[in-house]
Amino acid sequence: MNILVIGSGGREHAITCSLAASPLSETIYVAPGNGGCAPGSVNVGSEQLDVNDAAAVVAFALENHVGLVVIGPEAPLVAGLADAVREAGLPCFGPGASGARLEGSKQFSKELMEHYGIPTAGFGSFTDETAAHVYLDEQGAPIVVKADGLAAGKGVTVAMTLEEAHAAVSECFAGRFGQAGATVVIEEYLTGPECSLLVFTDGATVLPMAPAQDHKRALEGDLGPNTGGMGVYSPVPIVTDAEYAAMLEHMNSTIAALRIEGIDYRGVLYGGFMLTPHGPKVLEFNVRFGDPETQVILPRLATDLVEVLLAAAEGHLVDVSLTWDDAWAVSVVLASAGYPGDYEKGFPITGIDAAEAMDDVVVYHAGTQRLDNGEVVTNGGRVLNVTALGATFEEARERAYQAVDLIDFEGKQFRRDIGARALLGRSAWDG
Ligand code: AMP
Repeated sequence: MNILVIGSGGREHAITCSLAASPLSETIYVAPGNGGCAPGSVNVGSEQLDVNDAAAVVAFALENHVGLVVIGPEAPLVAGLADAVREAGLPCFGPGASGARLEGSKQFSKELMEHYGIPTAGFGSFTDETAAHVYLDEQGAPIVVKADGLAAGKGVTVAMTLEEAHAAVSECFAGRFGQAGATVVIEEYLTGPECSLLVFTDGATVLPMAPAQDHKRALEGDLGPNTGGMGVYSPVPIVTDAEYAAMLEHMNSTIAALRIEGIDYRGVLYGGFMLTPHGPKVLEFNVRFGDPETQVILPRLATDLVEVLLAAAEGHLVDVSLTWDDAWAVSVVLASAGYPGDYEKGFPITGIDAAEAMDDVVVYHAGTQRLDNGEVVTNGGRVLNVTALGATFEEARERAYQAVDLIDFEGKQFRRDIGARALLGRSAWDG
């Protein structure tokens, strides 16, 4: 079967590598893709296919006898690309625009959770700036201010003082995030370790993946600015069985709520949770695979990924059961100097082959480009995701860092402490 994967990050490279390992896959078109390649995969550059043009994507898929379209990032899902693909009669992995609102509108997702009793932070939602400022004064700090719409991960301010909170509200209404900030959601501040639980679903059956824990801050010790994610591991040793069961129950309740709302949801639902002293509460939903969570989840999946995604897209996930490798997985992001601020591109990368020659190591490309002469150069903020598997958490961590040390490029920036806090146990989150 020919498959079309939409996206250009480490997530899409990981998805493509897993699809390529299936005997069911033939050519995998990745649009626009990056410098990574998997057996049988072909990049379709943005000059050949504009992935924001739904009609062009459908035409490409039909012309190339594509039997499954897999949409990686949130923006095309929110824009309704999955609806267009399904209307053309093609199986598509990813929710339509109505389901993608769970990520595209924080207000929509909070109201759905409130209505169906799914635990989440208390909140108020505002289109009137004065009312938002009054609410902040009533609630006090710390407090969390969020732009309603998609803001490339930059729309959330965790304000420790009322001054910061008022400034964040003013910025949103002043247009910092454009239309995405025209509605502002203000949330109760929650504390605890964070944990993600992703599930595959066809809108009826829910198949959970293992939990994963990302590291959002740029610098060691969870300091510095927020990023798209600097490293991740899976499963998460500090999650108790009771917490896992509660998270899964909340994911099941959410899928059931969508069904009651008449929303046909097919794809991944990603729950971002805070493990609070009162049990797990939902911080956010994403409507697609996480990046970098995918890079530690898919290498552990023993079941054929083509079968899983096709069954979700076609609505027969009930026939599938997932098998997972027992190993632990740790992934370290190698970023460009300056990320998440400005950075330079085009630096040659060495050592990827040496790292991949190690047992149980895979290097996923994110912001890379492969030149005509075969050389791979940096082409983004997050450049590579170095994933290692191990029989123990410690072994996976050690192996990941051995691989990281084999790879080099000018300005290579990474955190040495991915997973370090989890090694210390749950008490490392107290106080
Ligand atoms: P979100 O995009 O909504 O997940 O928010 C991004 C990050 O902000 C989360 O990963 C948390 O670290 C933090 N955050 C979001 N909501 C809250 C909250 N209600 N309380 C404390 N921290 C939060």
